[in-house]
Amino acid sequence: PTRLTLFDLPLDVVSLGRALDLLGEWATQSPSTPHTVVTLNPEFIVQSRTQPEFVQAMQRADLVTADGVGIVYAARQLRGVEVPRAPGFDLATGLMARHGSALRVFFLGAKPGVAEQAAQNAARDYGIEVAGVHHGYFKPDEDQRVAELIGQSGAQLLLTGMGAGRQEIFNDYWKQLHRAPVALGCGGVIDVLAG
Ligand code: UDP
Repeated sequence: PTRLTLFDLPLDVVSLGRALDLLGEWATQSPSTPHTVVTLNPEFIVQSRTQPEFVQAMQRADLVTADGVGIVYAARQLRGVEVPRAPGFDLATGLMARHGSALRVFFLGAKPGVAEQAAQNAARDYGIEVAGVHHGYFKPDEDQRVAELIGQSGAQLLLTGMGAGRQEIFNDYWKQLHRAPVALGCGGVIDVLAG
C-alpha cells in the first residue's frame, strides 16, 4: 500500500479488505517472518510526541492503518488523500472470522482473567485455536519472559491490548526477538471480546 506521512508518523492507504488479505498472508505463511501492525488514532499522535520509543515502534511497523474518523479527516485535510478506516476491532475479528480453526491466536492484555474470557468467546464465535493468554499488567522488565511465552505458543496472530504506546512498544520488541507472524496492537479489543 501507499504510505503517507501524517504528523511525522507513517499511515498506509489501505482498505479493511486489503489489510485483512495482507495480515492473513503474513499470519499463515511458512516460513514465517514477524510483522507488526498499528491502528493509528489521534491519541497515539499526541502521546508519542513525548515518547520516542513509541514513534520508533510505529515507524518500524509493517502496516499502519487508520483506526477511526479522526485520522481519516486529518489525512483528507492535510494530505488530500482518502484513507479508508481499518480499525483494530475489525482487523482482529475479521481475521478470526476468515481463518477460523486455521488460526492460532494469543490474547495479550487487559486485567487478569479478561484475556481468558476473550479467548473462550473467540474460540466459540470464530472457531479459532487459542495459542495462549496473558494479562497486560506486567512490568517492562518482564517483557522478555512474556515474549518467550508467546514465542513458544506457536501463535500466528498476537492480539496486544495494553493501552496506547505500551502495546506498540511491546510488539516492536517482540518482533525483534521472535519469528512469529503478526502482532496487532488493538487497544480495548480484548475487553470487548470478553463481553
Ligand atoms: N491495559 C493493560 N495494561 C496496562 C494498561 C492498560 O493491559 O498497563 C489494557 C486495559 O486493561 C484495556 C486496554 O489496555 O484492556 C486499553 O486500555 P485503555 O483504554 O486504558 O488504553 P488506551 O488505549 O486508551 O491507551
